[in-house]
Amino acid sequence: MPSAPKWLFDTLEFLTPKLPSTEVVETVFLSKTVKKICFKGDLKNVQFAVGSFIDFRVNDTEARRYSVSYADTEKGLFEFVVYLNGKGCGSRLMADLKVGDHIVMYKPRGVSRYYDKTAQRFVIFGDETSLALACSFFPVLKKNKQQFVFIFELDEENKDVPKLLGLENCLIFPKNFLLSKEEWVSQLPTINISDWQDANFVLTGNVKSAQMFRKTIKEKVSANVYLHGYWLAGKKGL
Ligand SMILES: Cc1cc2nc3c(=O)[nH]c(=O)nc-3n(C[C@H](O)[C@H](O)[C@H](O)COP(=O)(O)OP(=O)(O)OC[C@H]3O[C@@H](n4cnc5c(N)ncnc54)[C@H](O)[C@@H]3O)c2cc1C
Repeated sequence: MPSAPKWLFDTLEFLTPKLPSTEVVETVFLSKTVKKICFKGDLKNVQFAVGSFIDFRVNDTEARRYSVSYADTEKGLFEFVVYLNGKGCGSRLMADLKVGDHIVMYKPRGVSRYYDKTAQRFVIFGDETSLALACSFFPVLKKNKQQFVFIFELDEENKDVPKLLGLENCLIFPKNFLLSKEEWVSQLPTINISDWQDANFVLTGNVKSAQMFRKTIKEKVSANVYLHGYWLAGKKGL
């Protein structure tokens, strides 16, 4: 629920479990539009799963969702990787956060269907808004010796960001390239090599790109496909 009347958000805020006071302890610009923000707080009894996200109440009537890219509950540290789209209140809040800021945050919520421990292969597709999700998958996939490929659509200025985040096995395409050249998706090795036909596909980021990716996959393979659009052009929040 990205937008709601103030009384409704006030009621939800009253009823929803929150993290005890959190403080920004580090911010790093990985490019002009991608920022990593590290918070410190008391994370006792807080669970973070692959793909956990937190709803930030940006103002009286708006809330926006951001994935937790990394968490160390013992040290009380957790991080976000945010895309500064320059258009919305979420982007402005994230751009403004600086070391020493304290904010009240809801507890993380998980998406249990993203990660399947028994799956052998994963294809994770998205854009800048999916980098944090990729970071949350990466150590778990490595630890459990699962095969994976990350496919990102990124602005030119962000094409080195996956490397800066330490991600491996990345295929990087220009923004909207796959959308405009639909046939390219069907050429991707991960879709055509038989071993990958039963991979788990996790499609996030731009709704239109993720839907196009799913359409092509469904025509070619009988894979498990999880689609969770993170943003839609012209629409506030999702
Ligand atoms: C479960 C979940 C997890 C998410 N995790 C992350 C995350 O880790 N990092 C992250 O950066 N984002 C993440 N997002 C996406 C983020 O919540 C949206 O991009 C959100 O719309 C940003 O809010 P805003 O207030 O800046 O813009 P809004 O007020 O929502 O939108 C204003 C305008 O900007 C456009 N817009 C929004 N996002 C983009 C974009 N990425 N590129 C171009 N135009 C855009 C909208 O279409 C609209 O026209 C996540 C979303 C979901 C649902």
